[in-house]
Amino acid sequence: MVKCGLLTIIVPCYNEEAVLPETVKELGTILENLIKKGKIDPASKLLFVNDGSQDRTWRLITDFDFVTGIKFSRNFGHQNALLAGMTTAVAYSDMMITIDADLQDDVKAVYEMVEKFNQGFDVVYGVRSSRQTDTFFKRRSALAFYSLMKHMGVDMVPNSADYRLMSKRAVTALLKFKERNLFLRGMVPLVGYPSAKVLYERKERFAGESKYPLNKMIRFAFDGISSFSTVPIRMIMSLGFLVILISVFLLIFTLVQWMRGAVISGWSSLMISIWFLGGVQLVCVSVIGEYVGKIFKETKQRPRFTIEKDDFTPKFKK
Ligand code: UDP
Ligand code: MG
Repeated sequence: MVKCGLLTIIVPCYNEEAVLPETVKELGTILENLIKKGKIDPASKLLFVNDGSQDRTWRLITDFDFVTGIKFSRNFGHQNALLAGMTTAVAYSDMMITIDADLQDDVKAVYEMVEKFNQGFDVVYGVRSSRQTDTFFKRRSALAFYSLMKHMGVDMVPNSADYRLMSKRAVTALLKFKERNLFLRGMVPLVGYPSAKVLYERKERFAGESKYPLNKMIRFAFDGISSFSTVPIRMIMSLGFLVILISVFLLIFTLVQWMRGAVISGWSSLMISIWFLGGVQLVCVSVIGEYVGKIFKETKQRPRFTIEKDDFTPKFKK
């Protein structure tokens, strides 16, 4: 029989004492079932990342004996908690699943994710099939967000958040992305490797309240755009050329007015120079922006490629 892979389920927690016992119970059951069915290694674990909670979260984590945890020295945010979990787990796991603590994402999708992993997929995205339980506002804003990101040239899997499975080699590749501003759902597709999707129904939070209020959500969206896309810089360039074009029309208009003698002296030269200079300045700013954009990309030190198969090296190894 083939050896089955070791799974670590990574759960970021920030003040989640209200849901934690239920989360441990549900995820624990899933692990047990998978082990019983021989789908995963019996040493598979739950790994809770306590993101600087002020409540009893850490005490709860350490109370359950089959649960493992890491504790941050303070609150570092959801994305960093996910990365810390993967960094810690990658050495000992063949696959890792990240899931929120609040049970909004259907835990049963884990079965299908593991199935897909065993079929040979490296990344399995959890995709929400419906958002019935989200408020109208959250649904609309999420939709607007995905379409905005697409226009900004950020490749994301629509309706997928941070509920996904990644293989050891996919996580290893992801950890080579050296950027500080994390936007994992934009980074994971950049890793490549065979990927699949699993549909699930998004539910209400089991207990407690959202740690992502509107202002945090907007900041997250803005972070996503500004750490992934240089499209806004290009937009300044287009705007600059548009303003110069307008200045040409104005030039003609003012000259005609001037010839008709229908202007106060000084008006024509002022009008033309204001628009023309405005346009020139915008173009100049965007040219500098292009270089800033290049620096921005260089400082990320992302890997330039990820090799999936290498048929060359083994030919030279004895
Ligand atoms: N979370 C975290 N650190 C934070 C904020 C949130 O680790 O600073 C965790 C939180 O405990 C939960 C997950 O991130 O497991 C998603 O947060 P939440 O459910 O509040 O977000 P929402 O689903 O409302 O967008
Ligand atoms: Mg939630």
